[in-house]
Amino acid sequence: MSKNTKTIIFFTLIFLAILIFSLRLLYLNSIKSSAPNSITINGYQSETKYDNIKVYTLEESQNDKRSLLHIAYPVTENKIINLKLEEMSQEFIDEYKKTAIGQELAYQDYIQKTGQVAMTLRTEYIQHFDISFANDKYLLLNFDQYRNTGNTGNDKVFSVLFNRETGENLPLASLFINDDYLEILSKKSRLLLNKRNTEVADSIDFENNEEKMEWLDVQTKMLNAGTEATSDNFNSLSISDDKELIVIFDKYQVGPGSDGIVEVKIPLSELADILVPEVKKIFDININIEQENTNIKKDDKLSETNTLDCSQEKCVALTFDDGPSFYTDELLDILKENNVPASFFVLGRSAKIQPETIRRIVEEGHLLGNHTWDHKNLTKLSPEAVQKQISDTDDLIKKLANYDISFLRPPYGSYDDKLLKSINKTVVLWNIDPEDWKDRDTELIIERMSQAEAGSIILAHDIYQTTIEAIPELIKNLKQKGLQFVTVDKLFTPEDLKSGQALRHQGV
Ligand code: ZN
Repeated sequence: MSKNTKTIIFFTLIFLAILIFSLRLLYLNSIKSSAPNSITINGYQSETKYDNIKVYTLEESQNDKRSLLHIAYPVTENKIINLKLEEMSQEFIDEYKKTAIGQELAYQDYIQKTGQVAMTLRTEYIQHFDISFANDKYLLLNFDQYRNTGNTGNDKVFSVLFNRETGENLPLASLFINDDYLEILSKKSRLLLNKRNTEVADSIDFENNEEKMEWLDVQTKMLNAGTEATSDNFNSLSISDDKELIVIFDKYQVGPGSDGIVEVKIPLSELADILVPEVKKIFDININIEQENTNIKKDDKLSETNTLDCSQEKCVALTFDDGPSFYTDELLDILKENNVPASFFVLGRSAKIQPETIRRIVEEGHLLGNHTWDHKNLTKLSPEAVQKQISDTDDLIKKLANYDISFLRPPYGSYDDKLLKSINKTVVLWNIDPEDWKDRDTELIIERMSQAEAGSIILAHDIYQTTIEAIPELIKNLKQKGLQFVTVDKLFTPEDLKSGQALRHQGV
């Protein structure tokens, strides 16, 4: 490039910069000079990345910008859909108009009476939307309606799903194979939000631990209320390009207003079981659980610890019932850190919701046992119902982790001869019961569990934080007593295991 060409380019660029700057000044002046109370309306259409979907935007400014409206909604090739979206948006506009008139009257009134300007008497209504996904069959839209009438604004988020061919409104439930999805989204959201709150709590300087616990308690109550498994609580769902289901909660729904809108992201692969095939196809979700099984490798280090000969060594078994839960992963971290194998008697219902935790239990060398599907008292059920409680859980665990369960711990330790004869499993009970479900007191639980001796089976529940917090100290105490941790099967001889008796401790 010659020196001359360079100079020409340089001056052209400078000229363009000056031109853009002047035009912008002109534009800003034209806004300023518009008379107060005049209405500025601006409506325009723009393109989206989706074929046949455009965005219609409407802006309105009134009362010297004390009343502002900004509305956007999509325009598609389907007239029925368009009409519905227009109607919905018109309702929002009508509400805005009514509010703006009231606020402006109050504003003028205030000036007249006090001679002062009330800054709070303004109105701002904004409607945004996102196209979550669109194909020939579905159109999933996410709306955010923001209303500010002076003090603090509030957002309402919701999703609208259309059948793109017929224009029919579809409930969000039609993205899922059945209504179980609400329960699953509720559990998963709670898990993630609890985790978030714990992280926030760790970053806050509390006076003492009690204060921290109180704060967490308040947060948990709020988020539990906002995440109950109802379609109202889960009325705003989106799907990201990263193949995540985004659950969007209104401001105030799951936390204080300062949190604003809260989003929780769940990988679609975790929901593969409950998404309808059409949705899976769009997002190419073919990760099936069977495929993932092959990746499960047991932790060698732990398996080694677990090969002790308990007829020679002082062994003790730590067992956990009723999980997996929100706390189980934390427990697994503790066990791993201390190189302690344990036994988990899980509920099928909870395992379904936390498949990754189940895989982790197996991977890290622990024992998995059956605690029924949903904690029914087996002696009160028909033989068919008993079989279903057990086999549904077995089948799920096999599917999730390619693991064959051979132990059963009946809920409430409740069994009879009929049950023992009818099942093809070894029933394992316990002999140290800290009653951690009754007394949520970490110190007390440590004290009770530390009574364990050689051959003891300790019962605990990995669904209480107070229990999890007791484990590090308990491990220390029992190791000091010369006890070695094993999975519960190691406490028994092959004859014991085949005896068809309910096993409590060594030799029984
Ligand atoms: Zn139980």
